[in-house]
Amino acid sequence: MKSHYRVAIVGGGVVGASVAYHLTKFGWLDVVILERSVLTAGSSWHAAGGYHALNADPNIASLQAYTIDILSQLERETGQATGLHMTGGITFACTPDRWEWLQAAYRVFQTMGIEDVRLMTPEEIKAACPIITTEGIHGGMWADREGYIDTTGVVQAYAKGARMRGAEVIEHNRVLELKRRGGGWEVVTEKGTISAEHVVNAAGLWAKQVGRMVGLDLPVSPLEHHYLVTESVPEIEALDFEVPMMVDLDGFTYARQDQKGMLVGIYEINHKHWNMDGAPWDYGFDLIAPDLDRIENELAIGFSRYPALERAGIKRWVNGAFTFTPDGNPLVGPVHGIPGYWLACGVMAGFLQGGGVGKSLAEWMINGEPVADIYGMDVARYGAYASNRDYIRQMTGQFYSRRFVMTYPNEQLWAGRPLRTCPAYDLMTESGARWGVSWGLEVPIYFAPKGFTEIPTLKRSNAFEFVAEECRRTRDSVGIIDTTGFSRYEVTGPNAEKWLDRIVAGRLPKPGRARLAPMLSHSGRLKGDLTVFNWGDGSWWIMGSYYLRQWHMRWFLDNLEEGVSVRDISDAAVGFAIAGPKSREFLETLTTADLSNAALPFLGCAEMDVGLIRAKVGRLSVVGELGYEINCSALEHRTLYRMLKEAGETFGAGDFGFNAMNSMRLEKSFGIWSREFMQGYTPGMTRMDRWIDWQKPDFIGREKAQGERDGEPSKQILVTLEIEAEDADATGYEPIWAHGKRVGYVTSGGYGHSIGKSLAMALVDRDHAEEGDELDVHIVGVERRARVLPNSPYDPTGARMRA
Ligand SMILES: Cc1cc2nc3c(=O)[nH]c(=O)nc-3n(C[C@H](O)[C@H](O)[C@H](O)COP(=O)(O)OP(=O)(O)OC[C@H]3O[C@@H](n4cnc5c(N)ncnc54)[C@H](O)[C@@H]3O)c2cc1C
Repeated sequence: MKSHYRVAIVGGGVVGASVAYHLTKFGWLDVVILERSVLTAGSSWHAAGGYHALNADPNIASLQAYTIDILSQLERETGQATGLHMTGGITFACTPDRWEWLQAAYRVFQTMGIEDVRLMTPEEIKAACPIITTEGIHGGMWADREGYIDTTGVVQAYAKGARMRGAEVIEHNRVLELKRRGGGWEVVTEKGTISAEHVVNAAGLWAKQVGRMVGLDLPVSPLEHHYLVTESVPEIEALDFEVPMMVDLDGFTYARQDQKGMLVGIYEINHKHWNMDGAPWDYGFDLIAPDLDRIENELAIGFSRYPALERAGIKRWVNGAFTFTPDGNPLVGPVHGIPGYWLACGVMAGFLQGGGVGKSLAEWMINGEPVADIYGMDVARYGAYASNRDYIRQMTGQFYSRRFVMTYPNEQLWAGRPLRTCPAYDLMTESGARWGVSWGLEVPIYFAPKGFTEIPTLKRSNAFEFVAEECRRTRDSVGIIDTTGFSRYEVTGPNAEKWLDRIVAGRLPKPGRARLAPMLSHSGRLKGDLTVFNWGDGSWWIMGSYYLRQWHMRWFLDNLEEGVSVRDISDAAVGFAIAGPKSREFLETLTTADLSNAALPFLGCAEMDVGLIRAKVGRLSVVGELGYEINCSALEHRTLYRMLKEAGETFGAGDFGFNAMNSMRLEKSFGIWSREFMQGYTPGMTRMDRWIDWQKPDFIGREKAQGERDGEPSKQILVTLEIEAEDADATGYEPIWAHGKRVGYVTSGGYGHSIGKSLAMALVDRDHAEEGDELDVHIVGVERRARVLPNSPYDPTGARMRA
């Protein structure tokens, strides 16, 4: 062991080894893996070793595809056997809804360019896996690139690849303490203290403790997981091929061949947490005693699906633990305020995702940014609220037991809720608010009468008419929406303006004005779709997407300059927005301020009295109407709601929720983050370049954005589509075709209640992006005609917003 390394990786499981492999592959050779026991001694040694193509987040699915590429080449590259069995895999559906979902998922795969998948009939499933009974199976999806590996072999191969380029692996050497010293880290280990510029927490089952070494309480917990391996099965012995990797989503089991027997794993509903504060330090190559009562039901379904197994003896039971985060995705990346400390933990499926995690983290450490959009894995997708023990317990438990359970797009899950509620929560619930959740906050999605129950569906919801009515009321008179679910950051200090001018790519607003402001990363890709307010008294606000609070704050603070203070004031400053043709008249009844166009034009902002409240008001509307965002302190939120409801009666005002907002913003072709805008996209392809101030000599990402502008236009461009769909609307990532050729995909969709059309926004090849171009799109697996609409099909000139 040397006394100094550029990077010290804590943990020699599959993830730590992959990080070392990728760092050295990309040129950082001075790397050490510090391992408490021996390589693989955490979850990695006893994993079932399966890998699948499916993931609900297409960006993560792409990284899984990358991992499968790496697994395929690792043995050749290192000479270390990895026991790769690319058997192919079948995911099958036993309910009509699940079958519909699978057909839709198949289309999403096509969007991702994963072409080696196809749908299968029950007969085809039987031919590929003769030991299955296909009774009750509606159909399945085959993927070529699924199978299993030897887990120990893979970890050793990653480590060997890293060693071949100069990395070291020091086993039997637990990291005891991490101390920040002189711009780097002092790493106290059992074999002595070393220094390192960077430390990576790849401690798997012990990630919680290695987080606490630097004051972090990571949202992660281990849970128990069972699989069994049978003795040889005569029906398998008789085959001259290997049965594929099988996933029975409705039966909660996965199965694969293991020699001439089968391995069957169970995601039981009755889950069990294990050492929530991290594994004991002396936990080694141990197994947890099997808990068969807990998995009895799922096991019975599994055995009835493969009757031959009922006659086979069980060779081995494995009950092991591995880590889960609230949404089941890894925790990757840096944390603001702890420089040089990186996370690569919470990886539930290390053999499936470890390659992508290692690659992305190595790129991030070396180049300052990963190539892929890995927001879904970024530790900054969580805030401090997610460190709460009970929140972690509920969320990880829910994720585990629902791992194979289908979640419908309009379904609300129970865990960790309600956690954060706006002050007017009870009043709004009284008014019929039905709640969704964003970053731990309850947000109103629509309003319905007491007793109404929304039925989970992949198609149009039975809440459709309520949303339609909210849209109608807003477009005809005035609607009221809670805006607690928008983020707000206050920027002050002598250099506030100068800093803002560098951090956003758009022109800054003059005093008393607001402006839309794209924010770019150093690579010229999108980092935010923000609104900047200049209140005229030296203070500025930035407003954006609520759930990006930690992510944006990390960016702001990482790029902070002398003389600037940026504060996330989203918990303190909340509000309501009113929108619709009567909203000026309505607000005039509550204020003596001059609301005329001359005094408060479109995109104007001012402090004014609204009833009893001293409010900060911006004249803008996310639904494309004359509208006002009324910001108040959290303590005034109830009062504001009561006032708006009372005063609104004269104007026929009513509540609307985020579902109606989504419908109306689609009609205006207003993009939103995570859909039309994300960090993998550029200003040119999303039309965000309209808001860039090209006269500004300097802003983050300028050079790259200019390069895009001067170069070839992006292959794809954002458009709005009308879709001939009667009973279902697009939700996102559905493929779009022109004459049978895939030319793009949906970014978001919904029903435009005011214009009476099923709408979608989509990224399509430029030669199919002209108004009137005819296309096809798959909605819930069914092909429908689609047509490119002019941008902003509702009120294209924006006259209503400027009224
Ligand atoms: C029963 C079971 C079945 C599974 N099946 C699959 C599957 O089919 N496919 C799949 O992809 N995944 C599967 N998994 C999950 C998979 O095992 C994990 O995702 C993966 O092993 C996580 O790897 P890791 O490197 O993050 O953590 P770990 O394997 O836990 O490695 C962490 C390492 O860090 C070391 N360490 C911790 N703290 C310190 C310290 N302070 N100092 C030094 N070293 C330290 C530990 O000793 C350990 O070796 C399964 C898991 C189980 C238990």
